[in-house]
Parts: sequence; structure tokens; C-alpha cells
Amino acid sequence: MSANIVFIGLGNMGLPMAQNLVKAGFSVSGHDLVKASVDKLVEAGGKTEADSMAAVAKADVVITMLPASKHVESLYLGDKGLLAAARPGALLIDCSTIAPEAARKVAAAAAVRGFEMLDAPVSGGTNGAAAGTLTFMVGGGKKAFEAVQPYLQKMGKAIYHAGESGSGQTVKVCNNMLLGILMIGTSEAIRLGVANGMDPKVLSEIMSKSSGRNWTLEVYNPCPGVMDTAPASKDYAGGFGVDLMLKDLGLAEENALATGSAIPLGAAARNLYDIHSKNGAGKLDFSSIYNLLGKVK
Ligand code: NAD
Repeated sequence: MSANIVFIGLGNMGLPMAQNLVKAGFSVSGHDLVKASVDKLVEAGGKTEADSMAAVAKADVVITMLPASKHVESLYLGDKGLLAAARPGALLIDCSTIAPEAARKVAAAAAVRGFEMLDAPVSGGTNGAAAGTLTFMVGGGKKAFEAVQPYLQKMGKAIYHAGESGSGQTVKVCNNMLLGILMIGTSEAIRLGVANGMDPKVLSEIMSKSSGRNWTLEVYNPCPGVMDTAPASKDYAGGFGVDLMLKDLGLAEENALATGSAIPLGAAARNLYDIHSKNGAGKLDFSSIYNLLGKVK
């Protein structure tokens, strides 16, 4: 395949996503502030350039996977930004989770320069990124949505057009608020069972076949030892960080204020992850909230 792809942001998610594009035969130039991450992509068959904007100027497709709104805005906007560097006709896809308003702002600036930019946040965690089974929720024009299929299909298996610019981020905010709440609920339930002498594996298996079943129980169990592949069984390393979940719940709160929506459980969840982060767990996987709910007596 001949498309020249530039991938910016090779973190927990971006690196495996970029590696899947390399595996699919695309020419991928990877960029990150952390050199070790870039080296890993190069080892996997990707390439890089000292000047990321020089690489962007030659790209057919630019994909970004950055932490938050401020990183996306500062990378794309301004005289020396990505929008100024990209060549006409390039496809621009931001996969970061950011505020819907920020996505609309950057897409509007892209439109002024003649680009149709897509917000395409993902769900599925680092395992989904590695396996190429992510869910993409995409906001932006239908034509651009069709044009990016060959790339998104190599990184994900469920690719949805959510609506106009910012819609992908709206779906993501709703989904992650629910995920954050479910992780706390699942942790509470397992803690309660364990306090009653239950084997957490048996408890989880039965609940997984009962009405309490949900993704955090079945795929991403927060109790160490229940699931070998879950971050809980790897000292909560890697995965989806507490601070990123906190960021997403902050986006949900901002959005709820702006739209006059009631999110009492979302707000409670944000407070708990905030306490957990302030206790020093910010970089651990968000399932480590299980530890905050440890037995008190
Ligand atoms: P991460 O912190 O591991 O990776 C972000 C990377 O961006 C870092 O390597 C950082 O060095 C790099 N970066 C920041 N600014 C940069 C710049 N100007 N130029 C180049 N590189 C830059 O985060 P992650 O876990 O990979 O998540 C990325 C995004 O995906 C976030 O918005 C997150 O909310 C979202 N997300 C994460 C998960 C997950 O399970 N980790 C799941 C779904 C969505």
C-alpha cells in the first residue's frame, strides 16, 4: 500500500495502533516527545524524521493520539501548527479523547484551510489497540468517513459514524462516564463478596452470567489474579490511567454543566478517582480504584 501515514503520539494506545498500520503494509512515520516510544515503532518497521512537521508536509494521512484537548489544540493550531504544515487533500484524524467543543474548534480551523478533519476517539483499551479490535466513534463529514476506512479498519473492528464534527467525542464522553461508574460498582461488588469469604474468580464468573454483567467484570476485572490479561494482575501497570479517566469524567462534568444535564453518579465517580489520584495512583490503571475501596476495619 502506498499511503504515507504520519502518526503523532505513540503512548500506551498510539504505539500499538501505529504498529498495526505498519503490519498492514503502510509507510508510517512515528513521532512522540518520548524517544524510546519512537524507537519502538522504528524497531517494528516504522520510520521517523527529526522534524515532525516536515513529515506532516509529505503525508497523505495524519493520525494523532494525544493526551488531552490542550495538546491537540497546540499541535494543530497556530502558524507553525499541523494545519499549516499539512499538504492539501491530506486526511486528518484525531483519535485522542478530548472535549467535543475542542474537536469542533480544531475541525472548524481545519475547514478554513480546506481540510475535512475527523474526530475519531476509540474504545477497547490497550489490549484492543494491540489486537486491532478497537471501536472507533467518528465525527465529521460522511465523505471523509468513507475515505479513512482503509486505515481505521487496520486498527479497529467496529467503526461508527456518530454524526457531525464533535459527535465522536460526545459518544466517547458518555461511554467513559459509564465505564468509570461501572468500574467503581464492580470493585464494590467484588470487595463485598471477598469480605464475605468469596473467591473473587468464582464470584466474577457467576456475576458475568447474571444481570450485573458488564465489561469491567468480564474483560477488565479490577481484582488481582482474576484475569491474567487485565492490568489488575500486572500491578495495575499500563492500561488506561487514573488521570486519563479523571480527565474524561471532567469532560463529562463540563459537558453536563453546559447542557444542564444531571450526572450525580458521574460526579461521584470523578470525586473518587480524584481522591485516588491525589493518593498517588494517577499513573496506575483506573481499575486500581479497587484499592481505594479496601476493607476499612
Ligand atoms: P499516553 O499518555 O500513554 O500517550 C500520549 C502520548 O502523546 C505520550 O507518549 C506523549 O509523549 C505524547 N505527546 C504528547 N504531546 C505530544 C506532542 N506535542 N507531540 C508528540 N507527542 C506528544 O496516553 P494513551 O493512554 O495512549 O491515551 C491517548 C489518548 O487516548 C488519550 O486521549 C486517552 O484518553 C485516549 N484513550 C486511552 C485509552 C487507554 O486505555 N489508554 C483508551 C481509549 C482512549
